Amino acid sequence: MKKIVFAFLLTLGNVAAINAQPNLDTIRPEITQIANQTWLITLYGVTNLVNAGDDGVLMVDAGYRMLAPKLFAAVDSLAGQKPDYIVSTHWHFDHVAGNLAADRKTVVIAHENCRNLLSSQQEILGRKMEAHPDSLLPDITFTDLLTLYLNGDTIVLKHYAGGHTTGDIVVWFKHKNLLHVGDLIFEGMFPFVDVAHGGNPKILMQNLTQIVTDFPAGTRIFCGHGEELTLKYVAEYADDLLKSIKIIESLSKKGKTPSEIATSPEMQPFAKYAVAFSLEDWVGRVVGR
Ligand SMILES: [Zn+2]
Repeated sequence: MKKIVFAFLLTLGNVAAINAQPNLDTIRPEITQIANQTWLITLYGVTNLVNAGDDGVLMVDAGYRMLAPKLFAAVDSLAGQKPDYIVSTHWHFDHVAGNLAADRKTVVIAHENCRNLLSSQQEILGRKMEAHPDSLLPDITFTDLLTLYLNGDTIVLKHYAGGHTTGDIVVWFKHKNLLHVGDLIFEGMFPFVDVAHGGNPKILMQNLTQIVTDFPAGTRIFCGHGEELTLKYVAEYADDLLKSIKIIESLSKKGKTPSEIATSPEMQPFAKYAVAFSLEDWVGRVVGR
């Protein structure tokens, strides 16, 4: 699993490799039951959450377009049908392109900024992303908060502005106390921050700190890429990376270049996070270069 996440993130961090096609035959969904009628389906390093019940089947994120047949087959094997609802945590292709394979009857729910980004062509890491056709754009959007009463749970969709992208939402299953945070956290590594589409490293860390206070003790956290996390982990991760941001800002004010900052002794304690993105990449995002 770790290896797949790593391969995925290397691809994400490497513009030349981003168009490389994986061997689809070797990619299989990994299914983990996390609560009653609730599963994670991890496919090529992307974690989607499925909840089934009397009111229907809801899926959080829908992965890559090319893997959508495998993902929908996995949902069918668990729930006996396609999803009725797809909640998209943000606009990135590894989370929403599977929406293009959904039935038109499937109700797609997202933040309004996510829908806006999907409604026209975008570019990310040098790759052009075509607009989603009108019929497959999110059907329901919201700005701050949306609550679904479904399958005996209260499912809260909450927007945290301007961290990973401009349209980030988290999905909280209140009774089960499960929280899917999309790409607001990349376990154990510098996160990807989509600065070109409203992301900001410092705000991302502030949003994570806010999440720690917004959700109750014992919340089980799942993210787009990586293992289950705790609020304590999120607090420490955000705190650590905020420290790195402060150091970067202070060295930058003294006129240091990103590469001088990345090689400075003050930054070396954060080298452990340089998994998919280097220290210099992280410095570059923080100083906006
Ligand atoms: Zn993302």
